Amino acid sequence: MEKLLADKVAIVTGASRGIGRQIAMTLAQEGAYVIVNYNGSKEAAEAVVSTIIEAGGQAESWQCSVADFAAVEDMIKTLYKKLGHIDILVNNAGITKDNLLMKMKEDEFDAVIDTNLKGSFNTMRHIARYMLKQKSGSIINISSVSGVLGNPGQMNYCASKAGVIGMTKSMARELASRGIRVNAVAPGFIETEMLDQMTEAAKEAGKAQIPFGRYGKPEEIANTVAFLASEKASYITGQVICVDGGMAM
Ligand code: NAP
Repeated sequence: MEKLLADKVAIVTGASRGIGRQIAMTLAQEGAYVIVNYNGSKEAAEAVVSTIIEAGGQAESWQCSVADFAAVEDMIKTLYKKLGHIDILVNNAGITKDNLLMKMKEDEFDAVIDTNLKGSFNTMRHIARYMLKQKSGSIINISSVSGVLGNPGQMNYCASKAGVIGMTKSMARELASRGIRVNAVAPGFIETEMLDQMTEAAKEAGKAQIPFGRYGKPEEIANTVAFLASEKASYITGQVICVDGGMAM
């Protein structure tokens, strides 16, 4: 049976661990050639590439901070020249620097906006040129249920993730006539290192809001991303799919 993403090239930002790692592995299982982007975790990113190749898939790693406009341009330009097409972009790289408003430092606000929001602008800005030329492409932005509902102690993060939703809808409208789909996935509480950074009290309070009564797994996000990336989602654009055990409804 033909794989869902056979012959597609996909860039997954922040794919050295957590949700991004699983997205990279799932897209590769579905036949895509995957670029495993990372910022600092070289060994972990190379381990993701090895795991994909050992399983019979195709991947390579690429270091660059998504917050660096020029470095993102270089990554996308170089990969497009080498591979001839880039079909899928998953803007997954993200950080948290949680604090209550009255304690939040300027650099905590700026760092989260630079990576989560401007990082998604940087990649979309540079990849659009090639997707427009191809007249095809699927962009999936990883937002968060926090960007839909808000969350105390996370105003910087919520602003960045709500901003990603606004960008997704604008880009979907701007690029639809050229065959490019842009959607967002808003995960709820997913079992990764990012979740480990939350206090036990915050985690328990969060869990109490989940109708399914459990945290999600990276695979549950990755499966949704693979679907949106594929032709099976050919009539879906500008949507925000909450994968959150029913938190936001
Ligand atoms: P994670 O385990 O902390 O992993 C974050 C990834 O992003 C790492 O691979 C990290 O790579 C990369 N990264 C960070 N800054 C980067 C930069 N400037 N440039 C390139 N890569 C960068 O996080 P996660 O839980 O998997 O989260 C993945 C995405 O899902 C994020 O956008 C997050 O906001 C979103 N999300 C997560 C949850 C959750 O419960 N876990 C819920 C909702 C939304 P390096 O180590 O190499 O920097």
